[in-house]
Amino acid sequence: MIVMKFGGTSVADADRIRGTAEIVRARLERQPVVVVSALGGVTDLLERAIEAACGDDLEGLEPLLADLERRHRWALAGCVDEARGHHHLSLEVDGLFEDLRQKLRSIRILGEGTPRAADAILAIGETLSARIVEAALRGSDVKAVAVDPREVMVTDDSFGEAEPDLERTAERAASRLAPMLDSGEVPVLGGFVGATIDGTTTTLGRGGSDTSAAVLGSVLDAEEIQIWTDVDGLMSADPRLVPGARPIPTVSFAEAVELAFYGAEVLHPDSLAPAVRKGIPVRVANSMHPDRPGTVIVDGADRCGESAVVSVASRSGVTSLRVINRRMRADPEFAAGVLASLRSRKVAPDLLVATEIGVHLAIDDDAAQVSLQEELRQYGELDVHGDRAIVCMVGSRLADGRSRRDAMEAISAWEPELLVIGSSGASLAALVRTDRLSETVRGLHHRFFEEGEAE
Ligand code: ASP
Ligand code: MG
Repeated sequence: MIVMKFGGTSVADADRIRGTAEIVRARLERQPVVVVSALGGVTDLLERAIEAACGDDLEGLEPLLADLERRHRWALAGCVDEARGHHHLSLEVDGLFEDLRQKLRSIRILGEGTPRAADAILAIGETLSARIVEAALRGSDVKAVAVDPREVMVTDDSFGEAEPDLERTAERAASRLAPMLDSGEVPVLGGFVGATIDGTTTTLGRGGSDTSAAVLGSVLDAEEIQIWTDVDGLMSADPRLVPGARPIPTVSFAEAVELAFYGAEVLHPDSLAPAVRKGIPVRVANSMHPDRPGTVIVDGADRCGESAVVSVASRSGVTSLRVINRRMRADPEFAAGVLASLRSRKVAPDLLVATEIGVHLAIDDDAAQVSLQEELRQYGELDVHGDRAIVCMVGSRLADGRSRRDAMEAISAWEPELLVIGSSGASLAALVRTDRLSETVRGLHHRFFEEGEAE
């Protein structure tokens, strides 16, 4: 069997939902379990509704609810045939909206929304979308059956960021989902939502549908987990900087983690860890172009590929801070002091290199405030440069001497101010001036992906 997860953009409106139904229908022989996000933007709207209700902002609340209702009604009307249960589902949607209004009303009366109450409200987004997708699938003659994720996904009670209980979820999935698959049914579940062992609704945190897909795939021993989104996969560079950027066919999990950190916004591979560690490949694919292969994330060793570098990732908006110890000799207090200052401000540096006499940091512009700079001056001389960017070559093969040397040689042409070999060995990151960012990324991309291709 496979797990197919469709994110918010893949179920944003009736058109996209019909496209999604077609993608599922074309893969029925693989026995899919379908996991869906709320319609694109709906979770944000629900969060805003909760805020409005907490602040007793009635005027703010009504337009949000109207917007939410309109979007779901349009989606429903546009992808479910009148003749096929449209009326029935429409009544159910009425019921869900009544439920939503009631929950918001109780928050308003209390003047406070607990995380537990918020989860019960946020879950409605996924419940609605699962019901609409189920109906659209049935309209395409797929034997789809919506399954309440609260009957399957067991979590702890950390509302708003609940942790799945893999063992219990495995039991539930075996008894609830496996028989459906055996009889040719296609279960459709809202992602992101679960319940505690005693049935209280929880959510797994924003973006949590990927986690749902990974957990279900892992407990059901899926052949593959597919994350359907609105891009062609993980890219060899940011296409805004490099017109010739292309999807990466295969990346290892460690590489995907590096990529997410240095700029790829496609997914948080963290959430996929349980599946990838079990050896289940995760495919990221574009629901607008289902024929394209996308990117497959596999456990370390399985990646094959010609290039040592799988992607030239980048991120701008970085400030360089260099602290030089005035005493110019080994001083155990020095680096520790700098790190303590960062810690007390909850600043995690993007890059960090320490020697006996200096610490060089690259941190996000937002974190590099004057007050932090003042504080760092107590340890020594401070050298600050804004308008910096990080370029990061990612590839597990960079752990090999030869490939690493090539990468270092290539980057040296752009005179990086700092060069860091990632501790995973799978990356080589450089700090460059923002005004040189695009030429650097383009040059490296050319060097590793375009050179030697047909002229
Ligand atoms: N709908 C939730 C969100 O927007 C979960 C998800 O889509 O993964 O965060
Ligand atoms: Mg997402």
